[in-house]
Amino acid sequence: MAKKDYYEILGVSRNASEAELKKAYRQMALKFHPDKNPNNKESEDKFKEAAEAYEVLSDPEKRKRYDQFGHDGVKNGHSGFGEGMSMDDIFSHFGDIFGGAFGGFGGSGSGGRQQRRVNRGTNLRVKVQLTLEEINTGVEKKLKVSKYVGCSHCKGTGAEGGSAYTTCPTCRGTGQVTRVTNTFLGQMQTSSTCPSCGGEGQTIQHKCVQCAGNGVVKGEEVIPVNIPAGVSEGIQLSVSGKGNAAARGGVPGDLIIQIEEAPHDELQRDGNNLMYDLYLSFPDAAIGTSVDIPTLEGKARIKIEPGTQAGRLLRLKGKGLPTLNSYGKGDLLITINVWTPRNLSRQEKEMLEKLQLSENFKPAPGAKDKSFFDRMREYFQ
Ligand SMILES: [Zn+2]
Ligand SMILES: [Zn+2]
Repeated sequence: MAKKDYYEILGVSRNASEAELKKAYRQMALKFHPDKNPNNKESEDKFKEAAEAYEVLSDPEKRKRYDQFGHDGVKNGHSGFGEGMSMDDIFSHFGDIFGGAFGGFGGSGSGGRQQRRVNRGTNLRVKVQLTLEEINTGVEKKLKVSKYVGCSHCKGTGAEGGSAYTTCPTCRGTGQVTRVTNTFLGQMQTSSTCPSCGGEGQTIQHKCVQCAGNGVVKGEEVIPVNIPAGVSEGIQLSVSGKGNAAARGGVPGDLIIQIEEAPHDELQRDGNNLMYDLYLSFPDAAIGTSVDIPTLEGKARIKIEPGTQAGRLLRLKGKGLPTLNSYGKGDLLITINVWTPRNLSRQEKEMLEKLQLSENFKPAPGAKDKSFFDRMREYFQ
C-alpha cells in the first residue's frame, strides 16, 4: 500500500510555512486525539499519520529530503516512526506544539504545565502515655523520636560537594510523564510521576556519599511537646514540621502524637468527672466518720454523716479534670459502698445476732434513702 502524501495528510500546500504546518497539525491532533475518540482505530491511525507527517515536515532537513525523494528520502536512519511509532513518541512532541501543556487536551483540560512536585516528608506517629495527674495539669514531654533528619554532609541538598542540578531529560523538567495505554475500555491517557527524577524535574550530577542523594539520613531528635490539660485517650495532637525531613530540601512532615491514658490505681475517668468507689465499714456508715479520698491533687478529707446509706453519691466539686481548650473542671464523684464482713468470729457473730433482733436495724421502706440511680439522675439533670 502506497503511503499517503504528508502534505495531503495535514491538508496544507507544498509551500506551507512552518506556522501553517504547526497550526494544521494542532487541529488534526485535537480532532483525532485518542481522548476524544476512544476505541476508534480509524482516528488512531489518522492521529499517528498526522504525527508522522508533522514530525518530518517540521524538520527543515527532513522536509527537503522528502520534497526531493518522497517517502524513501526520510526512511533511512529514521527510527521510532512509521509503523512502529508509539503514542509515547507522539506525546513527547506535544510539548513543542502545545507550548508545554501536556495536560492541555481532551478530557484532561487542565491547560497549564504540571506543577513540579515539592517533596514532603512523611508524618511521624508516636504514642504518649499520660497519667491522669499529667492530664489534669497539662505537661511538657521531651519526646525522643527516631526519624529522617536532613543530611549534614550535603546540607540536605543530596548533591556531593555542591555539584549542580540538571533538568531531568526524561520529563524535561515537568516531573510528569504522559502515556497512553490500550485497555478494553479504549485508550487511556495517564500522567504519572516521572520515574527518573521522582517528580522533581531535576536530577543531581553527583549524589552525596552520605545520603545517596536523598538529602536525608536516619537520625534521632528530642522534641519538646506541650500537651494541654484535659486531653483524653485517642486524641491526636499534631506538631507541624516535626515529622520526617523531606528529601532534598522539601517540607518536613508533621509529628502526630496519639494520647494514651495510663490507668489510675484508685480513680476512674468518666468524661471530665472522676469516679471513686468508697467502702465504709458498717459501724462507720452507721455512726459517721471522716475519711481520706484520693484526688489528683493529693488527699481530700470528707465527713461521713451518721446513717449514710450504701449507694449514696457524694460530690467533690471541681476535683475532676479540666475541659480541653476550655474553662471549667469536672467533679470527683464518690459512690458509698458498705462493706459486709466475711468470716465472722464467734464473738462477732453473737454481737451481730443481738443487733439482728433490734427493730432499729431492720430496713424501713419509708425511711429508705434515695437509690444510687436516683442520685445519679439528680446529679446529671
Ligand atoms: Zn547528603
Ligand atoms: Zn523527570
